[in-house]
Amino acid sequence: MKNLLRVLRLALQYRLTFVAAVACSLGVALLWGGNIGTVFPIVEVVIRGDSLQQWVNEEIEESGKTSAEKTAKVKQLRAELPKASAEQQAKIRADISLAESRIDAEHKAQQNYRRAKPYIDNYLPADPFQTVALVILFLLVGTTVKDFLIVGNNVLVARLANLSTFQLRNQFYRRTLRLDLATFNEEGTSDLMSRFTHDMQQVSIGLYVLFGKLIREPLKMVACLIGAGLICWRLMVLSLLVAPIAAVLIRWLARTLKRANRKAMEEMANIYASLEETFRGIKIVKAFTSERQERRRFHNRSKQYYKCSMRIARYNSLARPINEIAGIAAISMALLAGAYLVLSQETHLLGIRMCPRPLNVASLLLFYGMLAGVADPVRKFSDVVTYIQRTIAACDRIYGRLDREPAICDPQRPVKLDRHHSELTFEGVDFGYHADRPVLEDVNLRIKFGETVALVGPNGSGKSTLANLIPRFYDPTAGVVRIDGVALPDARLRDVRRQIGMVTQEVLLFDDTIFNNIRYGSPHATREQAIEAARRAQAHEFIENETPNGYDTPVGTMGGRLSGGQRQRIALARAILRDPPIIILDEATSQIDLESEQAIQEVLEEFHRGRTTLMITHRMSILALADRIVVMQSGRILDVGTHEELLSRCALYGRLYQIQFEQPDSDSKGPLAA
Ligand code: ADP
Ligand code: MG
Repeated sequence: MKNLLRVLRLALQYRLTFVAAVACSLGVALLWGGNIGTVFPIVEVVIRGDSLQQWVNEEIEESGKTSAEKTAKVKQLRAELPKASAEQQAKIRADISLAESRIDAEHKAQQNYRRAKPYIDNYLPADPFQTVALVILFLLVGTTVKDFLIVGNNVLVARLANLSTFQLRNQFYRRTLRLDLATFNEEGTSDLMSRFTHDMQQVSIGLYVLFGKLIREPLKMVACLIGAGLICWRLMVLSLLVAPIAAVLIRWLARTLKRANRKAMEEMANIYASLEETFRGIKIVKAFTSERQERRRFHNRSKQYYKCSMRIARYNSLARPINEIAGIAAISMALLAGAYLVLSQETHLLGIRMCPRPLNVASLLLFYGMLAGVADPVRKFSDVVTYIQRTIAACDRIYGRLDREPAICDPQRPVKLDRHHSELTFEGVDFGYHADRPVLEDVNLRIKFGETVALVGPNGSGKSTLANLIPRFYDPTAGVVRIDGVALPDARLRDVRRQIGMVTQEVLLFDDTIFNNIRYGSPHATREQAIEAARRAQAHEFIENETPNGYDTPVGTMGGRLSGGQRQRIALARAILRDPPIIILDEATSQIDLESEQAIQEVLEEFHRGRTTLMITHRMSILALADRIVVMQSGRILDVGTHEELLSRCALYGRLYQIQFEQPDSDSKGPLAA
């Protein structure tokens, strides 16, 4: 509920639109009541065959007659009073006060009629048929105006709903981009996607309904209730006695619906997850011919969603009957009571005074009309319950993410971090993705500016994890990483990440042209600079010769139209163009074939000069570029040294070297061959 209010507050920023929408609703409500009100003159005039002027005169006359009668009766009762016994006296007194209140009511009614008379005399036609025609004209015009107001209202409300979701979407996107990688890993992107699309859509629909029906229908209801109350408010209250029962039922329904909707949204997120996984890995699915298995998995999730939807539908379908039965009960109550009052021309029902003067047929019909006028908005309103619950559930899910503070963020008072020039240090660093399983333990490493350090070690020994601590994708659980003596959490994230060029094993290209992909991260680079970077990354040749449009060739979703090696070279060009003082190459050349490797080695040889380079590689030719080699095992640094030193004293390094050396496609021109 709290989150729904926050969305509403977003919408209420558009004050003018909101006020205009409410004004339209108000107009609709008044005309709705007014149109029903036309029942009265039509019935009076048509049934009696009189004009309204005659009707007023008769009413005044009749009222005068009644009050004269009652006055006479009071006089008679007063005369009887002294002679009566004590028991009788009480009854007579009650009768007197009853008659006196009736005289009062009649006086008031007379006054009202007298006040209305000049207007009726002067402005309304004297002929009964003309009167009816005039009323019908009012009805026509009123309905037309009302419908135009509804159109205006709908457009304004749509504007409110769409503008607010537009804002919410942008807010959500901004916050999501700020979230740290750990959250993304933990929660999965498909869940985010479903919040972003499906849930957001629910909010939009919900706001539309809320601002449309939630304002308009209650106003219509209130207009009719006021109308009914003016005729006979006690009778109205009597007929509303069933309302609390209906309210309790609706409340129960609303709670159940909210729960069901939340479940449905979770199931929808599961469907998204299923879709994302299979579509992304479609090659694997086909290669392993696991279509059947995937189909079954999807079928199960889809079925869960179906079950949820049906639960919602069942509860949903209850909303209308509850409202309708409550409505009909209310009207029956009023019908019975009203019919009794009119037929007996009484003002009391079971000893309780219902109205000051007996009701006439036209008044009662108008009263029923007004109640029917209440029933329609109530009926329309019953859908609102569902929508609101769905919107609340969606808002909770969206804000659940929006409110999450990223674990990695800028410090309150950031320390200035200049371009890296001195050293990069890891001091007693511990890290684990989960609290119970350490991935890095007590890592100490000092890399001087301009030095090239290679990380080697078996799979899963924590090399990539260590590299990921430098751009602060994660923060160490203990210890600290410093650039030029500044602990990373003390500097602004932008300042840290601006220093770093990163090329990883799985290169991510965006669905854009090659040129724009190279330029990603350096948006102000010119075409010439981009081409120069591509040349240095050994990418220029294949871009010019092997792609249909050169630098303007789109690379396809995730770079799917290029080979792995081509993608890595574009990523290298991207890093070169950015000209960062720190380079991280995480198996960045793993997919580049042996022929190009020689060339790549030359690229790196030129590129790593004057920069601090951390590379993770098993390629001997590239390892040759390293000043020092760090051997890692199970999250710990086993040994550090030059190739020769390590070969002579580190058994693990010897084994890794042996494997490389024995591989037929391994490079023989590396330092190890020398
Ligand atoms: P390397 O790059 O040396 O092959 P990694 O640094 O990628 O190794 O992984 C080290 C350990 O951390 C592995 O045991 C791996 O299972 C675990 N790990 C890597 N990434 C994640 C992650 N995002 N969430 C949880 N555990 C991870
Ligand atoms: Mg790795």
